[in-house]
Amino acid sequence: MIIDAHCDVLWKLWENDYDFHDSDLLRLNYKKWKKSDVKVQCFAIFVPDDVKEAAQYDVALEMVHIFFDRIIAPYDDVKFITSKEELISLAPHAKGAMLTLEGCHAIGHDLNKLKTLINMGVRAVGLTWNQANATCDGIEEKRGAGLSSFGEEVVDYLNEERIWTDVSHLSYQGFWDVMNRSQYPMASHSNVLELAGHPRNLDKDQLTALIKRKAWIGITFVPEFINGQTEAEWIEVLPHIDYILRMGGEDCLGFGSDFEGIDDIVKGLYDVNDFTAFVQQLIPRYGQRLVEKMSYVNFIDKFPRLR
Ligand SMILES: [Zn+2]
Repeated sequence: MIIDAHCDVLWKLWENDYDFHDSDLLRLNYKKWKKSDVKVQCFAIFVPDDVKEAAQYDVALEMVHIFFDRIIAPYDDVKFITSKEELISLAPHAKGAMLTLEGCHAIGHDLNKLKTLINMGVRAVGLTWNQANATCDGIEEKRGAGLSSFGEEVVDYLNEERIWTDVSHLSYQGFWDVMNRSQYPMASHSNVLELAGHPRNLDKDQLTALIKRKAWIGITFVPEFINGQTEAEWIEVLPHIDYILRMGGEDCLGFGSDFEGIDDIVKGLYDVNDFTAFVQQLIPRYGQRLVEKMSYVNFIDKFPRLR
């Protein structure tokens, strides 16, 4: 069993007229998913940065509708997951689908918009994508500011609702501000900066802080975050896992594939079916129990929303 904390399938389906059921152009479609060991898939609402500000929230809602109309409604065996209770009680044959938000630019400066998204089932909220927004700066904003007053309000609200605050994509200062304020921090899709010097990765101090808080950390399959190049091999993911294990992160590790988030390919981790084979290949190296922790146990243990 695998839980994948991040993919951009909703974005792909919003931009293209692909059939979620079996389009070969998707690394995760229903048929591939069904065949795979991925039990629960998180689907990110990601509003691309070329959408005009006034339309961003509408686009987020369009993606929510795509999620319900094309991923949940057509399939009796795909269950919408909003709590730990639902995660644990998923039937053996069923798949779970969760909604997450990648970037609060989609809510502008309006907490009610976030409340609506949470009421619709969003269970992890990344405050930024790479740019700045009303809550915080993203990692590519050169100003590098941390949480705004509105951003603090957002984190407080997420705490009240027991929703994960996702630090992937945040500015460096934003990361520390969130660590100080969030009761439920996590990193949905980031690797180790010391091994691949991309600013989207987390440095040793950040990883130490996350591990100290027993926060969940999702290793991601983006070549640049693996080896700094535009191509990578699946085996190059392992040093990132090893590094976090050596730091004592056995209870924190997980996976956030970022399928559909990036066109660059990791050989041996092209799609959701490769993900199954990848996890199998980890067993001789790490042992069954540790692989289970990485694959799903840690995610379920740390999932903050109980019911
Ligand atoms: Zn991302």
